[in-house]
Amino acid sequence: MKKALITGYRGQDGSYLSQLLLAKGYDVYGADRAGDTGLWRMRELGIEGKVKEVSLDLLESTNINYALAKVKPDEIYNFAAQSFVGISFDQPVLTAEINAVGVARLLEGVRQARPQARFFQASTAELFGSMGSAQKNETTDFHPRSPYAVSKLYAHWLTVNYRQAHGLYACNGILFNHESPLRGEEFVTRKIAAAAARIKKGQLEKVAVGNLDALRDWGYAREYVEGMWLMLQQPKADDYILATGETHSVREFIETAFAAAGIKLEWKGRGLAEKGVDAKNGKVRVEVSKAFYRPADVKELVGDANKARKLLGWAPKTKFNDLAALMVDAETKRLEGKKVKP
Ligand code: NAP
Repeated sequence: MKKALITGYRGQDGSYLSQLLLAKGYDVYGADRAGDTGLWRMRELGIEGKVKEVSLDLLESTNINYALAKVKPDEIYNFAAQSFVGISFDQPVLTAEINAVGVARLLEGVRQARPQARFFQASTAELFGSMGSAQKNETTDFHPRSPYAVSKLYAHWLTVNYRQAHGLYACNGILFNHESPLRGEEFVTRKIAAAAARIKKGQLEKVAVGNLDALRDWGYAREYVEGMWLMLQQPKADDYILATGETHSVREFIETAFAAAGIKLEWKGRGLAEKGVDAKNGKVRVEVSKAFYRPADVKELVGDANKARKLLGWAPKTKFNDLAALMVDAETKRLEGKKVKP
């Protein structure tokens, strides 16, 4: 039985990967910092109590080394992160401590205590930042535009370095946005899906969002963790992009999610004064707020996952409209007290 250690296992990706690896017969160890945030994800996935918990904070070397010595994992998936781009502008130092230096602590622990283990680093499309609108592949240069992306850039290159310098089987998954009903509530897709469902039920008047024109490549997280697992099953370690190859604006996500909730929106006004109005009754349902704008934003992200397609046999299946619809459906079920199958 293979042993996997997943850091940040109570987050979106960690919980889906836990479910996947349990189904594959792995002995799954979940490492997260103190607290019980995210346990609701385990409950909704029906795997509560099935992952063996290990206490681990990427800020602290001693507990990383202890976890590696205790578990002796065959595979390590590093998802632990301050993962919200917006917050990174307010907490750049903490973001760097966790996302950059934290990965150095972890990789050095692996090198010393468990060099035979296979290591996955959750790298990000945000590394490409302002590299223009063409599809990005594994050879595209990086130009990060946030403290989050800068911290992840360090971790990305460190992972490459431990592979090249120390011979570790270490891979970067350069992940474009992937969403699901298990996304944290601060992320825009989940916020929109939850608002659409609550407005439909008469429990909310309207929702405020930031830049409506930001373009992202959005896939379904459940499918992305399959690609991450495949990266660690290859003869040689390498870096791969996971993406759908399609780009859609925040505005389109809002229209699609509201349509899935049965609300047709019309856009009125421009810039910060723009509003999404219910076509049926004229009520304002979406507002733009400067508070959600980033000091430096990434205009457009779209990825080319051909390498993963060819070498891993991985391909995304869920289309943009279906992703928005399944997220609204899950939010509606939560409001109705029904079982969610995320
Ligand atoms: P997530 O839901 O925010 O999960 C992150 C997890 O890391 C949470 O369980 C969090 O615990 C934990 N964590 C935070 N700080 C920690 C620390 N100091 N030590 C140990 N654990 C800590 O993120 P996700 O969406 O699953 O993403 C997984 C990884 O992929 C992240 O590294 C993210 O940056 C990266 N990524 C995600 C996407 C995406 O679209 N989802 C795209 C590109 C890259 P708390 O609940 O206690 O905060």
